Amino acid sequence: MALEVVEEIELFRKKMLEKFPAMFRVRSGMTTNGYLLTPDVLARLVDLGVKDFQITLDGPPDHHNKTRLRADGAGTYDVIFGNLISASETNLDFNIDIRMHLHSSNINAVQSELTDILIKNFAHDGRFKLHPRSIADYGGAFNDGHVKTTNYINGIDAMSLILHRFNSARKSLNKEISVLSEPSLLDAVNHSSSEGSGFVCYAAASNSFGIRADGSLVKCTTALDEDNNKIGHIKETGELDINQELIKLWMGGFAAGKNSQLACPLYVVKTLPKKNQHKTIPISAI
Ligand code: SF4
Repeated sequence: MALEVVEEIELFRKKMLEKFPAMFRVRSGMTTNGYLLTPDVLARLVDLGVKDFQITLDGPPDHHNKTRLRADGAGTYDVIFGNLISASETNLDFNIDIRMHLHSSNINAVQSELTDILIKNFAHDGRFKLHPRSIADYGGAFNDGHVKTTNYINGIDAMSLILHRFNSARKSLNKEISVLSEPSLLDAVNHSSSEGSGFVCYAAASNSFGIRADGSLVKCTTALDEDNNKIGHIKETGELDINQELIKLWMGGFAAGKNSQLACPLYVVKTLPKKNQHKTIPISAI
């Protein structure tokens, strides 16, 4: 929606790359609903260096159009899927991860109908990958109760089945195209205990920052309303002004030697007192 902003940033990146060729490693990507990603826009983005995209489908048309609506209530499947097909008809150099959301009402349709559609249209094209994921309940005001998460093991089984089907189709079509790793039940058990997984979130790393549109710096890219997540800002000169006390909270898992804190520092940060939090006593209670 703000292509000119993307253009400004990418052109600046190109200039920096020419100036400091050895220092700059930049990879640009977008998580987008894909609604406006027409072939013209895609070509413009790829030319600018934005080559990785994650686009989500909430199921085959009748499921997707229940949860992924336009402001006027109309469904979005046809436009998004049309853009994916148009992308595959180009010879542009991009990678598209098609994220497939699984929940208790759509799990069968995603494993069968949607996977069939994706095999038919994209198994032959190595630029497309599948990324099935069970949705989680993060609360919020918009779920009126009709979307329920899947049982954990059913979700892993479904993800394995989808990738296995897609991989088999891909292998039978073209051995040159790399296949996708399939989650196993062992992964499910490991990931159910973050102490054992060894995963470190980028939010725990000292050199990872999210830069928001107003120039503020964050560590976690999901808890954008969390006060302790706003750890500084980027100045007009490009220097980073960082609150050292706050950034230490995010990297605390290294000092504590706790895998779970490294896997998701947010859970510890959330329990700490908020920055600038004042305790007040209501007058009526005095
Ligand atoms: S929610 Fe946790 S795991 Fe996700 S980005 Fe934030 S800190 Fe990392």
